[in-house]
Amino acid sequence: MLRKIILAMIALWLVNTSSSYANVWPLLPVNTDQDWALPSTVVIIDVGHGGIDGGASAADILEKDINLAVARKLYLLLRSQGIPAVMNRTGDYALSEDNRWHITRSRHRKDLSQRRQLTEEIESELLVSLHVNWSKKGSRRGPLVLHQKRGESALLAFCIQDALNRQQNTAFLPREGKPYFLLKQVKQPAVIIEMGYISSDNDRSMLTDPRRQQDVAAAIASGIRQYRWVVH
Ligand SMILES: [Zn+2]
Repeated sequence: MLRKIILAMIALWLVNTSSSYANVWPLLPVNTDQDWALPSTVVIIDVGHGGIDGGASAADILEKDINLAVARKLYLLLRSQGIPAVMNRTGDYALSEDNRWHITRSRHRKDLSQRRQLTEEIESELLVSLHVNWSKKGSRRGPLVLHQKRGESALLAFCIQDALNRQQNTAFLPREGKPYFLLKQVKQPAVIIEMGYISSDNDRSMLTDPRRQQDVAAAIASGIRQYRWVVH
């Protein structure tokens, strides 16, 4: 019992002193039965952009706000379905501001290294990174899921792409996202989800409507459940 209390105190101290996940929501469960357990979850929701970095934009709408709105809905859905999840951004701020350990002048690099570091400090089964696409062709629309080279990531991408295709009445295939830092660096199966095009009137109205955001989040959650059903 005493050992458990001491471990819990150390773990709490670690959670409180580690700046790199100070803003992760919710406060992380710490399992004291495992040896020095890392905080753990099933899904890390990487919420694209934030703060000074608005991401793609069109007609006064910023990608960062859409990413956060859908992420919140996805988080609640997953938890209600018994799948623990954490979000790495819960408000409108840049993750680079949380990063006090990577000494570089580049805000972009700080942002990316912060996102990667969290995946090392929080044990998880998979990561989904939420984004919105942009094209100069206003007619381009629909979801696109990018994956790592490894098979689990491709399977996860396939499941989510399929669910989003059904939700948005499209028939796209997922693709390998070779140049993406996050996909290269993250060890767990990870995918980048471009939920639609901010440059398309059709997609933008879907992505800014709370009820239809809920449909997008539900499709992503169902893809994640499908993937887990296959691999477990
Ligand atoms: Zn983006």
